[in-house]
Amino acid sequence: MEAPTISQTLQQLKKRLPPLEAQVLLAHVLGVNKTWLATHPEHTLNANQQEHLQLYMEQFASGMPLPYILGCWEFFGMEFDVSPVVLIPRPETELLVEEALAWARAHPKPAYRLIDIGTGSGAIAISMAKHLPAAQIDATDISPDALIIAHQNAKKHGLDTRILFHQTDLFPEAQSASQYDLILSNPPYIPTDILHGLDVYGREPTLALDGGPGGLEVIRRLLAASKQRAATGGLLLVEIESTLGKAVHKLAGGQFGGASIHILKDLAGHDRLLKIET
Ligand code: GLN
Repeated sequence: MEAPTISQTLQQLKKRLPPLEAQVLLAHVLGVNKTWLATHPEHTLNANQQEHLQLYMEQFASGMPLPYILGCWEFFGMEFDVSPVVLIPRPETELLVEEALAWARAHPKPAYRLIDIGTGSGAIAISMAKHLPAAQIDATDISPDALIIAHQNAKKHGLDTRILFHQTDLFPEAQSASQYDLILSNPPYIPTDILHGLDVYGREPTLALDGGPGGLEVIRRLLAASKQRAATGGLLLVEIESTLGKAVHKLAGGQFGGASIHILKDLAGHDRLLKIET
């Protein structure tokens, strides 16, 4: 049998995967980037590559998300190691990083004190460390397994000396920074019964997704704890579930009376981000 070309293989893969994922998978198997892939449609796959691809597709068919199969995924232009102990970084969360960086540009400081709560793979903390050299960064997670991945990712990008990782629920004890200029978090926020009906349930860590019966358990505790730990003139950004914008706005108003509070939308036009300027 003749060896299949890149363009034939992509055509086949696209029957089972979204186009972008098909490209990412094939580029991974060939050890090239997506641009190379696009410019070499007639290049053929050798037997070893075909076998690898076959194996990956079997794992994919068994329900394993592609980023876990590949062991890495892109976020904010950087590659992060991922495994089933961490949430797969989502494009929506790039909005949080963009907002945080825009705020920092508008509020220059010699050294920002920043915390990423529920860091998971470390995607938010590490992106911030890369783009905000003048920041002292804490990152916390309740999961020791997630912190191993987060630390590995910080090291991979040469940023491990910039971030202090803490295994704790929400904030660490007030030894490193008692108050933060930037409090960032993508907490678990999916209401439990909704989560149980989603594809991600059982595939990605429940700990990173389950926001309790109404979806607001962790956000409620996070806002209450942030009251003591947010510096005056600082910023809080928390990713939220699209149906909970109003409820989150109300909760935030209860904790941060005099602050400016906004709910920002993601690119799909859904409520996605709570922004509090203290
Ligand atoms: N956005 C994720 C999802 O829809 C949920 C992330 C979270 O709960 N923090 O699967």
